[in-house]
Amino acid sequence: MPSPDSNNEKSAEETRSRIMRAVRRANTRPEIVVRRLLHRMGLRFRLHRRGLPGTPDIVLPGRHTAIFVHGCFWHRHSGCRMASMPKTRIDFWQQKFDRNVERDRDNERALVDQGWRVLTVWECETRDLEALAERLRHLFHIERSKSADADSASSGGRCCET
Ligand SMILES: [Zn+2]
Repeated sequence: MPSPDSNNEKSAEETRSRIMRAVRRANTRPEIVVRRLLHRMGLRFRLHRRGLPGTPDIVLPGRHTAIFVHGCFWHRHSGCRMASMPKTRIDFWQQKFDRNVERDRDNERALVDQGWRVLTVWECETRDLEALAERLRHLFHIERSKSADADSASSGGRCCET
């Protein structure tokens, strides 16, 4: 008698690789969104600085700030709809998630110990550009008018959006 589980196993495997593909694809878009906003605000940054704990996605050396752009699913954005729990192989996922969250916490602590300010931008935040821009302006003490100019069409085409 064939194991009744073998089909489930297989489809769980397919679901998992589908999710992983989606994650890899999504991984760059939120980062690009954040970079673009920072750029518009006139902030200077570097990308994926190795040698820093956790290789932060974006580093602003002048502001002593390291930014992680985290996928809500993998990094367990607390209370977020995108951080749902898969229906199968819950133990497998839970362990994986726990490790990710623990690693994030360790990296953040190590960076703070080295004198960095650490920001986390969640993937879901990059879907509301206005709110995210507002948060970044606040964090970097940037006046609204400065970046609003770059956003508005009446600024005389100064913008360098590609
Ligand atoms: Zn989220």
